[in-house]
Amino acid sequence: MKTAVLRQNFFDFFSQRGHEVVPSSSLVPHDDPTLLFTNAGMNQFKDVFLGREDRGYTRAVSAQRCVRAGGKHNDLENVGYTARHHTFFEMLGNFSFGDYFKREAIEFAWTFLTSPDWLGLPKDKLLVTIYDADQEAFDIWHDEMGLPSDRIIRIGDNKGAPYASDNFWQMGDTGPCGPCTEIFFDHGPDVAGGPPGTPEEDGDRFIEIWNVVFMQYNRQSDGTMEDLPKPSVDTGMGLERIAAVLQGVHSNYEIDLFQDLLKAASELLGGVDTTEASLRVVADHIRSCAFLIADGVMPSNEGRGFVLRRIIRRAARHGNKLGATEPFFHKLTAALVDLMGEAYPELKRTQAQIEKVLQQEEEQFSRTLDKGLRLLERDIANLSGTEIPGDTIFTLYDTYGFPVDLTNDIARERGLTLDYEGYESAMEAQRERARAASKFGVDYNADVRIEGETEFTGYEYVDGSSRIRTVLVN
Ligand code: ATP
Ligand code: MG
Ligand code: MG
Ligand code: MG
Repeated sequence: MKTAVLRQNFFDFFSQRGHEVVPSSSLVPHDDPTLLFTNAGMNQFKDVFLGREDRGYTRAVSAQRCVRAGGKHNDLENVGYTARHHTFFEMLGNFSFGDYFKREAIEFAWTFLTSPDWLGLPKDKLLVTIYDADQEAFDIWHDEMGLPSDRIIRIGDNKGAPYASDNFWQMGDTGPCGPCTEIFFDHGPDVAGGPPGTPEEDGDRFIEIWNVVFMQYNRQSDGTMEDLPKPSVDTGMGLERIAAVLQGVHSNYEIDLFQDLLKAASELLGGVDTTEASLRVVADHIRSCAFLIADGVMPSNEGRGFVLRRIIRRAARHGNKLGATEPFFHKLTAALVDLMGEAYPELKRTQAQIEKVLQQEEEQFSRTLDKGLRLLERDIANLSGTEIPGDTIFTLYDTYGFPVDLTNDIARERGLTLDYEGYESAMEAQRERARAASKFGVDYNADVRIEGETEFTGYEYVDGSSRIRTVLVN
């Protein structure tokens, strides 16, 4: 089943069950400064869930374009390393605003996935997680859907648990929250990884396809939880992940859409093998970059624009690694428009603009990319340990325009780490010099590309261990 057909089937299933088909909202969240990019189908319905907005319907279905490349959900570091993560993906979702609740939500999901009239997936390849205290969800899965109890895994709220799973969802520190149930597909013993709730869960054998959230409580500022008068449902299923399952492939990069995109990228790069990790990164990144530009984001040194710049430069570096000697990335836009322009007419409409912005950014970066790489190679060759010094990271950033995550990307390929503390001090010293200089009327900031003027919102953890600096000015 082609990705486009799958998307349509999802709409059909839910519209036949009284859901309004709602178009995807922009990647730039409307009126929500707390969110970097739209990262879930529920974002555009936040006020509807909170009862602040009435849309005239209580059931909705959508395919929401999402970017997870910064902020709370950051999958940038996963791209090229896992079979299931993209910076840009489409989230299929059905929603109930105080209408149906647990029973129907579970039944809808199960029917869509397993009924021979719909996706017809083999039930014995599916397993689910529930929130451990949610006996109601257990009973529905077990007694009504007929899942054996060993395929229903209880997961806590991650307090003290060593694993990534967390089956309690909340919108913020206060407000709507509630337990989740997640549906996983078992890609079989040939793939490394363990079931959810085990230390091996981050492998790619058991892949989470659908997350169903039951908004059931309202958390007060004193921490107590009140029952919501009208509980709601929010669900999200990654289109690329479910497409992989239906197309009988393991990795998202093997689905129809990505195969076509990878072929186009390979042609631009002189016939590179389409299973190359760097080519996958390029194919992933063209989607986030093109859609972000289509939604009005421009490369810059702060906030959303800086995230876009980071992604473009990463793509350029991976292209360079594959042998590109001149800007190529912007040329991939045409293939993407062919593949996704029908579902997303805005992409088609803004194609020329996307190409222009990408080409400009590529050209600008190509002037320093090679020199920066040479400097890095030299410093790596002279390294005594396995940590790239802060001064190198700083010079790469400041003089050669290498965002820190890009340097980290290269380091990781070599099994090296970054001295973030050293980088921070080099950055601080730079700011001191700029401040001192400006007292004498010399505007050093005119030619230094630092984020010194922007707000520092904290560290973002990558790999669970190292950290990169992110500056978001929302
Ligand atoms: P994972 O644990 O695999 O990182 P998640 O729990 O972070 O996924 P959710 O926030 O529950 O993901 O999002 C709902 C669904 O969206 C997931 O079940 C998955 O199918 C899909 N999804 C999430 N992140 C990505 C991504 N980076 N690329 C592609 N699909 C994704
Ligand atoms: Mg995730
Ligand atoms: Mg998960
Ligand atoms: Mg999830």
